[in-house]
Amino acid sequence: MQSADTPITPLIAGNWKMNRLPSEAQAWLRDLLARLEADADRGSRSELLLCVPFTHLAGMSELAFGTPVGIGAQDVSRHEAGAYTGEVSAPMLADLGVRYVIVGHSERREYHAEDDATVNAKAQRALAHGLTPIVCVGERQAERDAGRAVEVVLGQLAGALEGLEPGSAERLVVAYEPVWAIGTGRTATADDAQEMCAAVRGALRERYPAFGARVRVLYGGSMKPSNAAELLAKPDVNGGLIGGASLEIDDLLAIERATA
Ligand code: PEP
Repeated sequence: MQSADTPITPLIAGNWKMNRLPSEAQAWLRDLLARLEADADRGSRSELLLCVPFTHLAGMSELAFGTPVGIGAQDVSRHEAGAYTGEVSAPMLADLGVRYVIVGHSERREYHAEDDATVNAKAQRALAHGLTPIVCVGERQAERDAGRAVEVVLGQLAGALEGLEPGSAERLVVAYEPVWAIGTGRTATADDAQEMCAAVRGALRERYPAFGARVRVLYGGSMKPSNAAELLAKPDVNGGLIGGASLEIDDLLAIERATA
């Protein structure tokens, strides 16, 4: 078991959202793998993950098997199996070799009316099948302006983690993504990101004294090569959840290098 002082390996997780065709994705991933192989200095400074549409998972998982790149999903059903047309279950993802799944992304909360109870059910289902949920939390601009950002984020976190078995929660990842920074080009300052990630860390330590200090807390929201180093240098920012910039190999690798 890791001690509380074991350094945390940063996680650089791309979120492709609904972009790129499966056929393009294969060629893109081959290029990325070739670039990683050619980078002799890379070592193992961080873990790289691509969360891609369901249609891409089988092909990309096969191609990425045994490489430094992990493949994750962007959503999962809260149900185990059955008459849920259009849904994809946690056991289906696990069967493909997928290890991570994003839950509670603000776009799911906004466009699919996902509330904290839904996010919690999805996280529980993912953990029960050996998947690591990347639980997204984040305040809207109006909530920040009203001075309620920390309250909102910690409330979402508490809702998402309600009743999670400590044993399986140990591999949880939390992504702090202020809604106003997603896809807008506006980024939280490194100090604001640190302040919120530290608040999330405090809540995790309180809830899980044995391992809360080691749960990875990511920042997401217009992270790009020009701002990644400053954000990733903060002590409670253990990586990034990256949308737009994860679609370009150069940008993704530049962000990954910023973890060094
Ligand atoms: C995201 O979708 O999680 C995200 C952070 O997007 P972007 O980096 O494009 O803001």
